[in-house]
Amino acid sequence: MKAHDGMYIDGAWRPAAGKDVIEVVNPADEQVIATVPAGTAEDVDAAVRAARAALPGWAATPPAERAARLAALRDVLVAREEEIAETVTAELGSPLAFSRTVHVGVPIAVAGSYADLAATYVFEEKVGNSTVYHEPVGVVGAITPWNYPLHQIVAKAAPALAAGCTIVLKPAEDTPLTARLLAEAVHEAGVPAGVLNLVTGLGPVAGQALVEHPDVDLVSFTGSTAVGRRIGATAGAAVKRVALELGGKSANVILPSADLARAVNVGVANVMANSGQTCSAWTRMLVHRDQYDEAVELAATAAAKYGDRIGPLVSAAQRARVRGYIEKGIAEGARLVAGGPESPRDKGYFVSPTVFADVTPEMTVAQEEIFGPVLCVLRYEDEEDALRIANGTVYGLAGAVWAGDEAEAVAFARRMDTGQVDINGGRFNPLAPFGGYKQSGVGRELGTYGLAEYLQTKSLQF
Ligand code: NAD
Repeated sequence: MKAHDGMYIDGAWRPAAGKDVIEVVNPADEQVIATVPAGTAEDVDAAVRAARAALPGWAATPPAERAARLAALRDVLVAREEEIAETVTAELGSPLAFSRTVHVGVPIAVAGSYADLAATYVFEEKVGNSTVYHEPVGVVGAITPWNYPLHQIVAKAAPALAAGCTIVLKPAEDTPLTARLLAEAVHEAGVPAGVLNLVTGLGPVAGQALVEHPDVDLVSFTGSTAVGRRIGATAGAAVKRVALELGGKSANVILPSADLARAVNVGVANVMANSGQTCSAWTRMLVHRDQYDEAVELAATAAAKYGDRIGPLVSAAQRARVRGYIEKGIAEGARLVAGGPESPRDKGYFVSPTVFADVTPEMTVAQEEIFGPVLCVLRYEDEEDALRIANGTVYGLAGAVWAGDEAEAVAFARRMDTGQVDINGGRFNPLAPFGGYKQSGVGRELGTYGLAEYLQTKSLQF
């Protein structure tokens, strides 16, 4: 058990103002592995002051130099890959191979992409008789969830640094150790003092103080829609910029011409990855009625194969929430064909890979985000019915379409109310804009679109 007593503020690890701590638990064996300080409004204020003081210098730093710091950050992440992967596994519970390839591999790619973008982005352009400058928004309050603990931070910090903004980061309570490693990496990369600051703490205390702080210019939040709604309201009242990456209930639409076995197997893998704790997971599989029984059988077999290979959920609270949803699915008449609410192991917050058949669109399990290894298979009559079901939730974060012909899949995808769609198993692209339609959020992350969130324009007329 390691008791960490500092927070990274103004380029150094400083003691917290208060004495309260947050316990970090390994979800695989339920042991407390560390404590971190539970920051207060006082700590947040110190961090925001440091970020404000560092802003003029960092904003005026030439983009090529900001790019060099980002490239150095990427290199530090590469050099410390194993340590970070082990830390993610210890506090989130994901299998080590997944921690390496996804939890660390993706942030390395994203940091690298922003090193390139900072060097090449056109921060100044001519528009008729005007010169338009793309200037940093200012001090960013970044609030992140636990499900991809490093990626969610880097997807905010890297574009903010590229833009010339300074940052106060408040990571999730369950995964603060990865955030501490990121702060160490930023320090090692030679990013000047005060440009990135870390305050660990509870959402309603440290998080709220950050959102309400008058000297924060932009709040960038990733997390639940419930908290995002409140943050949006607070930011709106203060006329503060806000970016929200929220929940999802994405549809995996398998059109009759698709390779059914491939679509189902990839679909199941997508939901089970990270134990289902992925906001963009395709948790609703939509299958034509003529292929429905075959798809259900394939999905049940594929899920059962995952058996012991998926990690635990992040916490006891998350496991209770997911089990509650599984029980609700059964109570509302969905048919369990794999998994179930019982714990598969004596220790650790594990839930079995679970598949529900005979799910109808209005059921709770088809409408609400479960955030666990639970797949719902729904039946559609024809393409219009599939579209109605696909678009029939308050969310619109991601999705997938499978068809024998790419053009057919694209035509369907264009009618979906969602921010990202993978066509016939399309690969993740760290440069493609990521973000939600409807209640899945406001704004975009990654690539140039992600960078634009941290910039504001000034035009000079001649
Ligand atoms: P959460 O909303 O409970 O917490 C997210 C962060 O907000 C944490 O750091 C938390 O401490 C903080 N927070 C909580 N209350 C706050 C308050 N009143 N003021 C300020 N900050 C506060 O979400 P979670 O349980 O950590 O994460 C799971 C959720 O995140 C899911 O709904 C998931 O879909 C969503 N998510 C979305 C994306 C995306 O990109 N759209 C990515 C990952 C996760």
